Amino acid sequence: MTHPQPKIDTSPPVSDEIRKTTCYMCACRCGIDVHMKKDEGGTPRVAYIEGNRDHPVNKGVLCAKGSAGIMQHLSPARLRAPLRRVGPRGSGEFEEISWDEALGLATDWLRPIRDTAPEKLAFFTGRDQSQSFTSYWAQAYGTPNYAAHGGFCSVNMAAAGIYTMGGAFWEFSQPDWERTKLFMIFGVAEDHDSNPIKMGLGRLKERGARIIGVNPIRTGYNAFADEWVGVTPGTDGLFVMSLIHCLLKAGKIDLDYLARFTNAPVLINEDPKSPEYGLLLRTENGRQMVIDRRTKRPADFDGAGVRPDLSGKMRRAGITHRSVF
Ligand code: SF4
Repeated sequence: MTHPQPKIDTSPPVSDEIRKTTCYMCACRCGIDVHMKKDEGGTPRVAYIEGNRDHPVNKGVLCAKGSAGIMQHLSPARLRAPLRRVGPRGSGEFEEISWDEALGLATDWLRPIRDTAPEKLAFFTGRDQSQSFTSYWAQAYGTPNYAAHGGFCSVNMAAAGIYTMGGAFWEFSQPDWERTKLFMIFGVAEDHDSNPIKMGLGRLKERGARIIGVNPIRTGYNAFADEWVGVTPGTDGLFVMSLIHCLLKAGKIDLDYLARFTNAPVLINEDPKSPEYGLLLRTENGRQMVIDRRTKRPADFDGAGVRPDLSGKMRRAGITHRSVF
């Protein structure tokens, strides 16, 4: 006797359309498939986000923050109009105003400063993922005093990546997960999801590479590091400098790498009385300058055949310049 089984569709379609894009919930830029479904009025809405298995950065992995990207569109708390505070500061009392009124208010605040001394405006934005546009705005306004969250976070990491492994991170380049023997990870935020880093660290563990975590607390990535250096907050710079000191003393520095791929040989103004004190010496067209070991003369740092001198020194217009190193 056979029993009729109900036919269950275990993978019903969740969307009418899939749009491929990258996640903007952090700077990793994982590839995502955004499932769109029409609402009752026929307008396509984000219904579901999943990782794109064909994307080289995340290979389908999606973190909780990436999945929560749907709330950027659907959260009931999302601001849909400018708000003006109407109660005492901190009271949480606001009223909605029109865009015209909001822009008028902002213009009234900003115009007098721009007309007199635009540099008095200090402009800071959060992790808005559009810092190139906000910096254009600040430049157009006329203030050099602008910054954003990235300057205290991922931009530093990107700069360190460029100087050490030749590229920033994430979508721009990555550590050599297949050949790295020792991986040091400094002060990575415990809540940072970062799929490419998670996947890379997993690969290091698989290969038996050694991981050292430098962080005041031992959770997150530091919890599975082979060694944990629990530095006091604010002393990691000192720790790095002491490492450099020991490496220099032991002669374990790759001087050829420093000379060819970093700004260690670039000449710097070392006259405290000069208005250019502490700045890199540049040619008229803005190129950084080094002393070429072959000719003993100044040259563009990346000129053809130039061999930058790590202990270069020269005097120009009565001012001493010495290599950064
Ligand atoms: S790590 Fe998470 S938040 Fe960052 S881009 Fe990838 S999915 Fe988005």
